[in-house]
Amino acid sequence: MSTLAARDHAVLWHPYTQMQTAALPIPIVRGEGAWLYTEDGTAYLDGISSWWVNLHGHAHPRIAARVAQQLQTLEHVLFAGFTHPPAVELAEGLLEILPPNQRRIFYSDNGSTAVEVALKMALQYHHNLGQPRRTIVAFRDSYHGDTFGAMAVSSRGAFTAPFAPLLFDVAFIDVPVPGREVEALAQLEAVAAQGDVAAFIFEPLLLGTAGMLTYSAEALDELLGSCHRHGILAIADEVMTGFGRTGQLFACDYLAERPDMVCLSKGLTGGTMALGVTSCAGPVYDAFLSDDKLKTFFHGHSYTANPVACAAGLASLELLRDPACAANIARMATAHQVFQAEITGQPGVRDVRLLGTVLAVEFEEAATTSYFSSLRDELYELALQRRVILRPLGNIIYLMPPYCTTDAELSLLYDTVRAMRELVVGRNQ
Ligand SMILES: *Cc1c(COP(=O)(O)O)cnc(C)c1O
Repeated sequence: MSTLAARDHAVLWHPYTQMQTAALPIPIVRGEGAWLYTEDGTAYLDGISSWWVNLHGHAHPRIAARVAQQLQTLEHVLFAGFTHPPAVELAEGLLEILPPNQRRIFYSDNGSTAVEVALKMALQYHHNLGQPRRTIVAFRDSYHGDTFGAMAVSSRGAFTAPFAPLLFDVAFIDVPVPGREVEALAQLEAVAAQGDVAAFIFEPLLLGTAGMLTYSAEALDELLGSCHRHGILAIADEVMTGFGRTGQLFACDYLAERPDMVCLSKGLTGGTMALGVTSCAGPVYDAFLSDDKLKTFFHGHSYTANPVACAAGLASLELLRDPACAANIARMATAHQVFQAEITGQPGVRDVRLLGTVLAVEFEEAATTSYFSSLRDELYELALQRRVILRPLGNIIYLMPPYCTTDAELSLLYDTVRAMRELVVGRNQ
């Protein structure tokens, strides 16, 4: 038994983990490129970017150098009444690449807080205008985080059941997956007509936790058009889709309509440090400008705009804007397309979904599909035995590798999915 894993087991409590039955955690001591290394030197290929955060590879030297330099210059300063270069430069850089109507950057700590900030901003926007609205609209299958507001606007299920009575009411509408576009729009129109909807929050084009569900830009444009006709603020949760994952810098770049707010985290620092951003369009910001102090946005965190995290964000942004990164994203998207063509329609495969660098394969499963199914554990184990990190969502396996992943490394991932399909076929016989 690894001493680190044993010591961990004595003192730690891991996320999304049933500690009584879980296997000991795999102790990782070093990372490089798309690889993670254990104490004894075993290498694991990170096919899911360490929970969707890593963009350019682990322990990237350019990000590390920038962080080290910032640590020796200024580690932190409070962000009310004070500012610092990394916060300003990162905000300027983000506004250059975000949808062009975005005007202001509000920092927080992670994806969930970026969502909390967006929800509070939207509600207070209407309050400040003197026309309070209370209803939030969200997709039934969405995931927006684990804090209370984020949970409230997320899919209700086993994870949220213990808290259900305390979650505020949300108007859920269907995801406009192919064939459901008309219903989703009708549901939004019906709730919008009541005049009380403050905001619509959505994962643009790709719902991650729901199983990498995809829907069209045209369908989302219709929903956003309806929002804007009814004075409803559109909040794009790009925590997962941001920074190139979908093949464009942001999923919203596929749209004709513009979001009023954008939530960012995960890839924001290239997967190096925790940082969240909520950006907003001019009219949202303007609703908070007043001689009346009560119109202030009274929200902040101790580590708001932490300089070290912002420095990591700046270094990651530089790497992202390097043409070599765009070339890697395009190369990965093409490789995924080739694999999609190969595996689509094969026995055991129910559906294959692809958007940019994210590929999902939904397997046929005889029993009911859920996060808790034994197929999920078998697929997970199969990947680990091949020294590949892939975390199935029930009967769905997805690839979301760092952009630096080479063609040879991608082949290892595809081989693993091929082996998983064989396992599924054998199991269903
Ligand atoms: C991961 C995720 C979040 C929550 O981010 P955390 O940093 O884990 O709190 C919110 N929205 C989406 C779409 C996500 O994928």
